[in-house]
Amino acid sequence: MRLSRYFLPVLKENPSEAQIVSHRLMLRAGMIKQASAGIYSWLPLGFKVLRKIENIVHEEQQRAGHIPMLMPTLQSADLWRESGRYDDYGEEMLRIKDRHGRDMLYGPTNEELITDIFRSHVGSYKDLPLTLYHIQWKFRDEIRPRFGVMRGREFFMKDGYNFDLTKEDALHAYNRHLVSYLRTYERLGLQAIPMRADGGPIGGDYTHEFLVLAETGESEVFYDSAVTDLTFGDRAIDYDSVDQCAAVLEEFTSKYARTDETHDEALFAEVPEARQRTARGIEVGQIFYFGTKYSEAMGAKVQGPDGKTVPVHMGSHGIGVSRLLGAIIEASHDDKGIIWPEGVTPFHAGIVNLKQGDEEADAACEALYASLKALGLDPLYDDRNERAGGKFATMDLLGLPWRITVGPRGLKNGVVELTSRRTGESEEMPPEAAVEKIAQIYAGIA
Ligand code: ATP
Ligand code: MG
Repeated sequence: MRLSRYFLPVLKENPSEAQIVSHRLMLRAGMIKQASAGIYSWLPLGFKVLRKIENIVHEEQQRAGHIPMLMPTLQSADLWRESGRYDDYGEEMLRIKDRHGRDMLYGPTNEELITDIFRSHVGSYKDLPLTLYHIQWKFRDEIRPRFGVMRGREFFMKDGYNFDLTKEDALHAYNRHLVSYLRTYERLGLQAIPMRADGGPIGGDYTHEFLVLAETGESEVFYDSAVTDLTFGDRAIDYDSVDQCAAVLEEFTSKYARTDETHDEALFAEVPEARQRTARGIEVGQIFYFGTKYSEAMGAKVQGPDGKTVPVHMGSHGIGVSRLLGAIIEASHDDKGIIWPEGVTPFHAGIVNLKQGDEEADAACEALYASLKALGLDPLYDDRNERAGGKFATMDLLGLPWRITVGPRGLKNGVVELTSRRTGESEEMPPEAAVEKIAQIYAGIA
C-alpha cells in the first residue's frame, strides 16, 4: 500500500477520552473511531489487524479439529426462555422487538442457539465428539464501556461449543481447547496465563481464564512467578491424544495462578515467598466445562452405545478477538507508539523515502516495494511529500516491526537502512539484502 492512497486518519494530539495507552494509540494511529459508547467503526488499519487475529484464531481452532460455522447476531428470545436465561441475563442483554411484536435479542453468547442446532440434527453417540465454533459480533450492554475495544458493548468473539457423550470426553475437549489457546496467544506474540476462575452458579473446577499481565488490566491476579517461565513453543501435539493434552493442562495449571474470585490465601502462602506475585491482568479468553446444564434444559440428547438416551456433556470456550488488539498493544508499545508482534502486524514493513521526488530515491523505493510484494509480503510505502521527521514519527506510531529507510546519501554507497521497531537498531545493507532479511523473518511466521 502507498500511504498517499491509503486511508489513515492519524491524530496529532492525544485524544482526551482515552484513559489507557492502547485506546490512545488505536485512536491516534487511525485504527478505530467510536460510533457510540462502546461501539466502534474499524478503520482500515484496525480492520487489518482484527482480520489477522481472526485468521490465527481460525487456523488454531481448525488445527485442533474444531469446525467453523456462523450463527446470526440476532436471536429469538424463545430459545433463551427454554434455558431460563432470558430472565436471568438482566440488563446486559439488548432486547429488541420486531415488527410483529416478537421478542428478539442481540446475542451476548450462543449456548442456546448452538444447542438448538445440535438437538435438531444429532441423535447418536456415533456423531460425537463434536466441537463447533464461530467468530461473530456479540453485544453486551455493559454498564460502563471503557478502554476502547477492551470493554466494548459490541465486540468480536470466538465462541466454541463441545458436545460429548461422557464427562471424560468433554474434559478432553476442555484440555484440547486449553492447548489450542496457548498456541493461539503465543502466535499473537502474547503470554496469556491460564488461571483458575470462578465457575459461577454452576460451580465446578473446570474453568480457566487466560490473562495477559498488564497494569491496566481489570482483574486482580495472584500467581507463582514460575508460571511466567512456561512457553508452549513449537512442540508437536496430537490433539486426539488424551494423554498429551492432559499433560499440557497439568504443566500449565498446576502452579498457583488465580483471579481474585477464586484466590485462596492459605494456598497462596504455600508458594515460596520470593515467587509470590500480585498483579493485574486482562482476560483474553475463558474455557468452561458445564456438563449437562443446557442439554438437559433444552433436550439435547443422544442415544449411547447401550441404546439409552442421555443428555450430552458440553462446554463453551471463548476468545475475545477484538479485546486482543488492546491487550497486544498494552503488552507491546513504547512512548513513540505501538510495536506490533510480527504475527499480527498490519503491514510487514514500512518503506520511508527520505527525499520524495528525487529520481534515484523514488526508483529505489519503487523497486523495494515491488520486490517485497513479489515475495507475497505487504509493505507500506510512505511516499508522501513530508519531512523525514514526520515520516519516522508516523512509522513509529503505527508500529510496523521493520522499516527500510531510503535516501540519496545511502544510495550513493549502494545501501539502505533496515531498522527494527522493537530494538531501534539499524543496519545498512544493499536493498536486495534488506528484502531478503525481511522475507526470512516472515518465512518462519506465516
Ligand atoms: P469480563 O469478565 O471481562 O466481563 P466475561 O468473563 O463476561 O468477560 P466471557 O463470557 O468469558 O466474558 O467472554 C469470552 C471473552 O470475550 C472474554 O474472555 C473477553 O476476552 C471477551 N469479552 C467479554 N466481554 C467483553 C467486552 N465487553 N468487550 C470486549 N471483549 C469482551
Ligand atoms: Mg470470562
